[in-house]
Order: sequence, then C-alpha cells, then structure tokens
Amino acid sequence: ASPTDRTIDLAVISGDGIGPEVVAQGLKVLTAVLPQDVKLETHAYDLGAKRWHATGETLTDAELEQLRAHDAILLGAIGDPGVPSGVLERGLLLKLRFAFDHFVNLRPSKLYPNTTSPLAGEPEIDFVVVREGTEGPYVGNGGTIRKGTPHEVANEVSVNTAYGVERVVRDAYARAQARPRKKLTLVHKNNVLVHAGHLWKDTFDRVGREFPEVTTDYLHVDAATIFLVTDPARFDVIVTDNLFGDILTDLAAAVSGGIGLAASGNINPTREFPSMFEPVHGSAPDIAGTGKADPTATVLSVALLLRHLGYEAEAARIDEAVTADLAERAGTARTTDEIGDALAARVAG
Ligand code: ATP
Ligand code: MG
Repeated sequence: ASPTDRTIDLAVISGDGIGPEVVAQGLKVLTAVLPQDVKLETHAYDLGAKRWHATGETLTDAELEQLRAHDAILLGAIGDPGVPSGVLERGLLLKLRFAFDHFVNLRPSKLYPNTTSPLAGEPEIDFVVVREGTEGPYVGNGGTIRKGTPHEVANEVSVNTAYGVERVVRDAYARAQARPRKKLTLVHKNNVLVHAGHLWKDTFDRVGREFPEVTTDYLHVDAATIFLVTDPARFDVIVTDNLFGDILTDLAAAVSGGIGLAASGNINPTREFPSMFEPVHGSAPDIAGTGKADPTATVLSVALLLRHLGYEAEAARIDEAVTADLAERAGTARTTDEIGDALAARVAG
C-alpha cells in the first residue's frame, strides 16, 4: 500500500511488560496525527513471553505469512526474565528480521531540550546510525567442535556479501544526502578485519562517487566509541555492520537522553516486506503496571514508521511535538498516559 490509497494496515505486537502501555500511547498519537481521509486499520498479534509461557510457541509459519500482508509492524517490547536467553530473540525478533529482509536498522540519536546527557557541557547530538541488519556475525553461521573438552572450538562466522554491503551503504548515502549536513561516516575495523573491512571500505568509496554532495569520513570502531563521547557533533549519519552497530547504538542511546527516548526501525527499504518499528528499550518488568514508562520512544518510532510509508509531514509533526513537549514539560513527573495525551493533543492541534 502507498500513501495514495490512504489506508495504513498496521500489525501491532504489543508484547510484554511495558510494551502494551507504550504501544497504546503510540497508537493514540498515530490516530491523532493522521488526516481524516487516511484510514488506519490495526491488527493485534499475541506474540512474546506471555504467549511462549502459555503455548511454547514463538512465531508460527502461519503468523509469519499473515504478518507479511501488512504495511508495517509496530512492536512494543518482547521478553521477560522467565524465558531462556535466545528463545525469543532467535525465534521471533531475528526470524522477522531475516524473513522480511530488514537490512537497514535505523537508530536516530538526538539530544532533546531538558534531557540529560552524561556527557560534560551541552553536547550537540543529532545523528542517525544505519546498522546493517541481515549479515555480519549474527547470521547464525558457525558451530562448535570438541564441546566440553579443553580443546573446544567455537566458530561464529561473520558473513559480508558484496550485495548486502552495497545495498546498506547506498541506503545510508541516500539518507545522508537528504539531511542538511550531508555527512556520512563509515565505521569498521579494516586495519585488523582486513577481508570484511576492505569490502566495506571499497564499496563505501565506490558508491560515494554517486553522491558527490555527501562528505565522507572513515573511523575504526574503537576510535568511533571515543568520538561518540568526546565529540558527538562530528557525526551526522553513520553506516556500520551488524555487530559494531549493535554496540554503537546502545552507546549512542546512553549519551543522548536515555532509553525512554530512543526509537528504532528495522527497515526493508524496497518495501517488498513490512518494516518493523520499536522503541530500543525492553519490556522493563521492574516498572510494568506502574505508569512510569515513558512512551516517547514508541511515539518517535511511530514517526519513523510514518516517514517510511511516505507520510513525511505527519512524521515531522510528531518530531516537533516531542521537542516542544520536552522543552515545556520535562522535569514534571507525568504518567505514561499523561505524556501520550499531551503528545496527541500537540500533533492534533
Ligand atoms: P530486554 O532484555 O527486554 O532488552 P533489559 O533488561 O535489557 O530488557 P529494559 O527493559 O530496557 O532492559 O530496562 C532497562 C532499565 O530501563 C529498567 O530499569 C527499566 O525500568 C528502564 N526503562 C526501560 N524502558 C523505559 C521507559 N520507556 N521508560 C522508563 N524507564 C524505562
Ligand atoms: Mg536490553
């Protein structure tokens, strides 16, 4: 579906813990921001830890087929301490990411007014990380031999293909081109990881010739972690592989206002399959049911979703509402619902 048919067919996976609480606010803001003539259809999917405890299932093939038909997926949070590590990650989240070819994992980092950064001074932070989502060491290509012996060998192969690297690099250039600063930094470690590193660097340089307006930079990942802390203003768009991106984006969330504001998208830019948008935080069982969960990260994920589907003006209204809301109201203790109501009122007004 495209914006011209004026329907958004959305799959909603509220999930566990605070997931349903923050998703309710995301949907409230989405409903408020959409013009009258856009029809929103939502379909709830009961997936996550609760479901696994009840049935032992993570995601059936039938559900995967059903999900495929939607325009996009909004996810709250999945998981609880009672589920063995890896079950829901591999059985649900990574399964969706690979089935729907979410090769762009997008995570904007922005320091909003009145939010605190642990960094000294008042750093300027407004960058976005494009993390490759379908390759690297996360593909499950590996194995263990001589298990349990002193000679155990564990291989976890990092897969990097010309096809996979080129498509994510090109996507990152296009995103950099569309931003005012037009700067793209490749992060890798090609002084040590010479095979994958050079595929990334050569691809980066070659594709860059198609984007002459974009300024480029290259950093080894260790240097990048230093600059994220000492000079975050040097970053505009960062493109990097699956593993480095996982680590960098958590660091980026930590230096820019914290977990309650970090949004993300698992994106299939070709729109052949539905993309999935979710807050970076988890199910936060420690605060579930208390009304303390900040729904802003989910609301910002809804903005990423709208932008992906072509609703740029509506996405921008949400971003502006969050900035204005934080500028005026940060510091006052508000419930999950109160924050959602305030943002819904701003985008509607
Ligand atoms: P998961 O394994 O599901 O990623 P986690 O233990 O890594 O979970 P979170 O669930 O994200 O991490 O919670 C980490 C901490 O951040 C908790 O103390 C939680 O209460 C807090 N937190 C997470 N999300 C929010 C939110 N939206 N608003 C306020 N606090 C939050
Ligand atoms: Mg976590």
